[in-house]
Amino acid sequence: MGTEFSKVIPKGEIIYKEGQMADCAYLIESGQVELFVTSKDESTPLSLLGPGEIFGEMAMLDGSRREACAKANTEVVLSVVSKEALSERIDEADPIVRLLITMMAKRTRETLKVNKSITQNKKLKIRESTNSNTEITDINLGLDVIQKIRYEKELHEALENDEFMIHFQPIVSIETQNVVGFEALTRWNSPEHGLVRPDIFMGIAEETSLIVPLGHWITETACREFGHIQKALSDEMGKIPKLFCSINVSGRQMQDPKLFEILQKATWLNKIHPKQIKLEITERVFISGSFVFDWISKCRNKGYSVALDDFGTGYSSLSSLHKIDANNLKVDKSFVQAMEDDHNTFVIVKSIVEMARGLNKTVIAEGIETSEQLNLLKKIGCKYGQGYLFSKPMSKDDVINFLLKKPAKKAA
Ligand code: C2E
Ligand code: CA
Ligand code: CA
Repeated sequence: MGTEFSKVIPKGEIIYKEGQMADCAYLIESGQVELFVTSKDESTPLSLLGPGEIFGEMAMLDGSRREACAKANTEVVLSVVSKEALSERIDEADPIVRLLITMMAKRTRETLKVNKSITQNKKLKIRESTNSNTEITDINLGLDVIQKIRYEKELHEALENDEFMIHFQPIVSIETQNVVGFEALTRWNSPEHGLVRPDIFMGIAEETSLIVPLGHWITETACREFGHIQKALSDEMGKIPKLFCSINVSGRQMQDPKLFEILQKATWLNKIHPKQIKLEITERVFISGSFVFDWISKCRNKGYSVALDDFGTGYSSLSSLHKIDANNLKVDKSFVQAMEDDHNTFVIVKSIVEMARGLNKTVIAEGIETSEQLNLLKKIGCKYGQGYLFSKPMSKDDVINFLLKKPAKKAA
């Protein structure tokens, strides 16, 4: 019983047998699991495991067969750690950590083999670990990793259960304060944790392949809902409003060969012109490799617009800015919010606006919360802004109501 990501095993049932090929490891959520080896008709217990412990990871690590059997001593609830999820993490780990993991797996396996032969006539003492969390608490890192594994499983389920939502935050003209577009921001409405911040769950999604299906969902949903907003406004106003919708794209998503196809289809299906979609790419992504430049060129050639997100916080910005075919620079909120009190920051923002003008790009200032910040940005000729001063991110229906009270005018 259970899903692809979790399993409920009844008491007494064998979870896997010695010699079987391994396709996943397990994290025990509740109940007790016994690991044992068999020789002739004898079975020799190796250990008793309880909540918070992981088992079955060794055969996955080195791609060999299970060295022991695992049985549910009570009813157990398990989170499944897929081979892909584990190997992705190991592949991305520091080479030294990778080597250590592989060596440790090899040594543990050798020890297990020796133990097995010694105990052919002699039973091993069972390691009573059910009511001691020593292995987990000894390694502080363990909890972090386990929390991530749990989150990852929950995120997969959240996608299946339609728990993600897109909110739209207006982007306005600094001069007129009319809405010119929106940024699509993903939300996870978790029944268990409440509304989870995207920088937490997007980070976990990006560490694994979950970002691929989640990225497809975000692209399709943002385009569909933006299409609804556009339709509702044009029905009301009698003409199609010139608005744009920004979608955040991470480096990992750019390596997904299907994403661009999905974007093109979603744009076309929802009667959106490619120039109305702005792909927001963080500056940090540029250190990932030259594929980022190619991806941007592909988007620009098909008419999509591109914004460099969190501008000023990355590393590679100035050295490669002339090579990046972006329409906008988004100045990070940390600059906008420090600008009033710190003259140097004000000078930096002013210089970014001037530099952008020289490079034929326009600036979108993020995180505007006060009218003082707005006035400073107006003074230095910053063209567009986004922030709580104008509006927090909203559902598509709230956006429609918001805009019908305050009609949109011109696109960036
Ligand atoms: P971001 O792309 O820099 O998005 C802007 C963030 O600033 C949003 O946070 C927005 O709600 C917040 N914000 C806007 N105005 C203000 C303001 O006046 N004051 C303050 N303090 N904050 C403001 P949010 O929605 O929590 O998103 C956080 C980050 O998560 C985003 O930063 C982005 O990096 C990531 N993210 C969100 N949705 C997606 C997505 O669909 N795809 C990807 N790849 N990343 C996403
Ligand atoms: Ca963004
Ligand atoms: Ca940003």
